Amino acid sequence: CGVFGIWGHEKAAEITYYGLHSLQHRGQEGAGVVTTDGEQLKLHKGQGLVNDVFKRVDFSKLSGHAAIGHVRYATQGDRTIDNVQPLLFHSQTGSVALAHNGNIMNAYALRGELERGGSILQTSSDTEVLAHLLKRSEEPDTKAALSEALCRLVGAYAFVLLQEDKMYVALDPSGLRPLSIGRLGDAYVVASETCAFDIIGATYEREVLPGELITISDTGIESTRFAIQEQRSLCAMEYVYFSRPDSDLNNVNVHASRKKMGIELAKESPVEADIVTGVPDSSISAAIGFAEQSGIPYEIGLIKNRYIGRTFIQPSQELREQGVKMKLSPVRGIVEGKRVIMIDDSIVRGTTSKRIVRMLKKAGAKEVHVRIASPAITDPCYYGIDMSTKQELIAANYSLDEIGKLIGADSIAYLSAKGLEKAIVERNSLNQGICMACMTGEYPVRDIDQKEFSYTR
Ligand code: 5GP
Ligand code: SF4
Ligand code: MG
Repeated sequence: CGVFGIWGHEKAAEITYYGLHSLQHRGQEGAGVVTTDGEQLKLHKGQGLVNDVFKRVDFSKLSGHAAIGHVRYATQGDRTIDNVQPLLFHSQTGSVALAHNGNIMNAYALRGELERGGSILQTSSDTEVLAHLLKRSEEPDTKAALSEALCRLVGAYAFVLLQEDKMYVALDPSGLRPLSIGRLGDAYVVASETCAFDIIGATYEREVLPGELITISDTGIESTRFAIQEQRSLCAMEYVYFSRPDSDLNNVNVHASRKKMGIELAKESPVEADIVTGVPDSSISAAIGFAEQSGIPYEIGLIKNRYIGRTFIQPSQELREQGVKMKLSPVRGIVEGKRVIMIDDSIVRGTTSKRIVRMLKKAGAKEVHVRIASPAITDPCYYGIDMSTKQELIAANYSLDEIGKLIGADSIAYLSAKGLEKAIVERNSLNQGICMACMTGEYPVRDIDQKEFSYTR
C-alpha cells in the first residue's frame, strides 16, 4: 500500500490526489482521500485505480486545509469496499481517519480481545484495531492514547491519521516500511515514497524515524517516541522491486541501488554471453548495472505493454500467467541467434522467469542465462508484501538446479544476501539497515501468531 498526507494547504484534497497518482504502483485495488476543514472529516474512496476512483469527483466538495490518502494493495479474501482506506470512524468525541501501509501481525489476537471487551469491528482489515484501541484508551489526549495503542501493535506499519484538528504520523519501531516527510511552502507533507514529493513540487525534509510519533497541527510539528528506536530494518524488497526508481528510501535512491545489485550480481556470477537484457520495468536498472560491470552490451530484448497492470497483484495463478503473456514480448531482431543474459529482479513463484525464458528461446535466443538481482525467496513475508505461503515460493520447494530446469534456463544464479545488503546499505548504523527475512529467514519482528496467521497485506 501507499500512504500520503498533507497539512496546511488550501488545495489539500487535490494535492493528495496527485500524490496518490505517483504512488499508484504501490496498490491498484482501491484508493481514497479524507479531508478536514477543522470541523468535519470528509471521505471519498472506491475500488480501482486512482483515476477511476476520482474521475467524477468535485474537489470543491472535499474542501479543507489537510488531507490523508491511501492506495490499496489487497490480498485474496478482503477485497471489499469496506476495507478500502482511509478508514473513517465517527464518535461523540470526534472522528478519526486512518491510512496504513504494512501488516499488524497480532491483529487477530487484538480483534478477539477488543470484541470480548465490547468493540464492534466493521471491517476485516488489520488497520481497524488501531482505531478501537485508540477509542478504548483512558489516556487524556489523542497523542498519549495513540502512543499507548501503538505499543500494543506487533508488525510493520507506516500510519497517517487525521482528526478534525490534527494529523498524526507513526512508524513501527523497526522502520520496516518507508515513510518520509517534506515541505510544500508552509505545508507539511508525508508520503510512502519521495516520488510523491517530486510530483507536487514539495521538498524532502527527513525520514520518519522508527518508533516515532509525529503530531502536525496549525501550531506546527511535534515529535515524540512511543517506542525505543530499534535497528532500522527497512524492507529490502522495496528497493528490489516495489518502489519507484526515482524515489529515495531512507536517503538511498532506488534506481542507484538496483544498478548496484546488477553490478554485484555480475561480480558474483559472471557468464559468457552476447547481450544483457532486463525484464521491464523493475529489472532494467539491475540489467544496466550487470552490463556495465561485465562489459557485455545492454539491449532491449523484451518489451512491455504499458496498458496491463502489475501481474503479481492479480489474485489467482491463472490470471497471473495470462498477465505475463499479454504483458511482455521478445524483440526477435535483437535476441535471435544470441546468448542472452536475462536479468529479473526476483523470483517468487517462478511464473515470470519461466515464461520469459520460453519466450526468448522461441524468438531464437541460442542460450538464456537467468540472473536474479536478489537472493532466493524462501520464507513468507509477514510485514505487508504479498508473498503469502511457503508452498507458493519456488525456492522454498526446489533446489537451485531444479529451479533452473523448471524455468528452462541454460544457467541460473541469484544475488547473495551480502551482495544485496552491499547494494543498499551505505554505512552500518542504527538508522540504516534492511529486512531480508523472506530471503534469510531472520525475522526482525516476531509474533506468536506468526505460524497461523500466514497471510499479509
Ligand atoms: P514470479 O513471477 O516469480 O512469481 O514473481 C516475480 C516477478 O514478479 C518479478 O519479475 C517481479 O518484478 C514481480 N513482482 C511483482 N510483485 C512482486 C512482489 O510483491 N514481490 C516480488 N518479489 N516480486 C514481485
Ligand atoms: Fe520486505 Fe521480505 Fe522483509 Fe517482507 S520479509 S518486509 S518482503 S524484506
Ligand atoms: Mg518484474
